[in-house]
Amino acid sequence: MKHVLWELEKQGFQVRTVSIAHLLELQEAIKGRHDKGEFSEEFYQERLADFSFAPSESLPGARTIIIAAFPQPKIQVVFRFHGKSFPFLIPPTYLYYPNLRAEELLKRILSPKGFRAARTNLPLKLLAARSGLGSFGRNNICYVPEMGSYHRLMAFYSDYPAAEDSWQEAGLMERCRNCRACLQSCPTGAITADRFLLHADRCLTYLNEKPGDFPDWVKPSFHNALVGCLTCQDVCPENAPFRQWVEPGEEFSEEESLLLLGDMDEKLPASIHKRLQDLDLMEYVELLPRNVRAVLAALNKESPDPEK
Ligand code: SF4
Ligand code: SF4
Repeated sequence: MKHVLWELEKQGFQVRTVSIAHLLELQEAIKGRHDKGEFSEEFYQERLADFSFAPSESLPGARTIIIAAFPQPKIQVVFRFHGKSFPFLIPPTYLYYPNLRAEELLKRILSPKGFRAARTNLPLKLLAARSGLGSFGRNNICYVPEMGSYHRLMAFYSDYPAAEDSWQEAGLMERCRNCRACLQSCPTGAITADRFLLHADRCLTYLNEKPGDFPDWVKPSFHNALVGCLTCQDVCPENAPFRQWVEPGEEFSEEESLLLLGDMDEKLPASIHKRLQDLDLMEYVELLPRNVRAVLAALNKESPDPEK
């Protein structure tokens, strides 16, 4: 297995392996917190209940979980309203292409040896922390050495035996012991001093990745990203080397921007669909009008009327 990991590392991934035997512990960790009422039921049902801890569904005979992180920047998307350009940021982790790259690489290396790899649906931050790939920040984001929180996590099953089972206790990042920057800056109060677990149902990322009106207590000034939230990542000293790492994404013309603010239906031209697909935003396409207006409001900008 070591040469498999080397191949991934040569391509810029950081990788760990753990035995499949730990799936039950992952499952118990989520279940235990749910049983204790530490998640709101709505958040649990929407975000945690769908994990699958049974590899037989995708790869009978799986023996190993390969967990990997690939560096990822913020992406800047530009919309134009009233003749002016407005940059919107997408936090690291939303771009999916590293998963495809890793999957292709794993299959290419493993299949000549008669082994396979398959996708997983597992709690990735917890798995990364328990494999030693990263550690939790006080904001419950997983930090990876030399990447900070600027990465995308992924995991695969394989029937290839693990060279090393790096399973361990999940640790709080060393730097967090004397730091409260994320707690002090979080606009929603999702990070509190009385417990490690984020109040995820108060996190903007949870709220703006799902449809519906924002709760009344969410102030307009809270919004800062096209999807997700960057506030706690931006203030985190662990991210200092990466904070300015912003790559240009798409730029939408005034007409396209107004279309995107309108009712998201089949009238969106294929060219815009394609560009949203390239940004891995199609999953959120129906949320974009609300989120764009929210960020514009946070900037104290008049929200343009798509009917005009
Ligand atoms: S801001 Fe400070 S406390 Fe929060 S995750 Fe970063 S280092 Fe830890
Ligand atoms: S992502 Fe935003 S809302 Fe969520 S914990 Fe961090 S600062 Fe708070």
